[in-house]
Amino acid sequence: MSKNLNRVALVTGASRGIGAAIAERLAADGFTVVVNYAGNAAQAEDVVRRIEDKGGRALTTRADVSDAVAVAGMFDAAEAAFGGVDVLVNNAGIMMLSPIAASDDALFQRQIDVNLKGTFNTSREAGKRLRDGGRIVNLSTSVVGLKLENYGVYTATKAAVETLTAILAKEMRGRAITVNAVAPGPTATDLFLEGKDAALIERMARMNPLERLATPADIAAAVAFLSGPDGGWINGQVLRANGGMV
Ligand code: NDP
Repeated sequence: MSKNLNRVALVTGASRGIGAAIAERLAADGFTVVVNYAGNAAQAEDVVRRIEDKGGRALTTRADVSDAVAVAGMFDAAEAAFGGVDVLVNNAGIMMLSPIAASDDALFQRQIDVNLKGTFNTSREAGKRLRDGGRIVNLSTSVVGLKLENYGVYTATKAAVETLTAILAKEMRGRAITVNAVAPGPTATDLFLEGKDAALIERMARMNPLERLATPADIAAAVAFLSGPDGGWINGQVLRANGGMV
């Protein structure tokens, strides 16, 4: 636990799902955690309460990551409360599935705004403001490898995030800041489960040889590795955390 003491991690989209698990895992690893969310204040406060109950330190910050002004304000709040930010986890994301031919402009724009521009907004602030020795971990998807039907726009935003990851890693030269991505496979969260029947969930769970869905904690473990000292020599990479699906 002592290894990350006095280090501050900002996790976007940490009120639920994978982001909440990342926030709790990083807190257990010694980080002070900034829990970002878009709308679910009560769930974000619950995450902070669970961290504090275990002796950790955390606060919530509301900001839509697609809003550059709100993102700058979120970094201001983190710096005011805790003195600086060492780790940024770009986890906030949305998924709207549709064949490309049936996708309307709103579906395209909203996913670009949250998944791609959101990651750009936070990465730009982090590139200027992260303390030397820091870490950035972006959330992609293993569908970048699988290339499933209906996932076209969503996966295109994540492929772009993977490209930002590799280039920002090089641009951080001289500051000892690493930039990597974790690309989960199917993980039991609202984002994955909503709108799918039991048979489809079972079929997707069996796409990997371990024959189950990931838990949010499985993905948080990969993020924690890249955020802590053991991951320090991994830079500019995409780690596919999917049980061997692709
Ligand atoms: P959930 O839908 O369970 O949770 C999404 C989180 O993102 C919530 O905390 C939500 O906040 C927040 N959020 C959504 N939009 C915004 C926004 N504009 N600004 C700030 N926060 C926002 O998603 P998951 O936990 O499943 O997904 C987390 C990440 O992992 C995403 O990037 C997703 O693409 C990726 N991923 C997920 C997979 C899966 O199978 N679950 C597989 C591959 C990748 P609020 O509660 O306030 O709405």
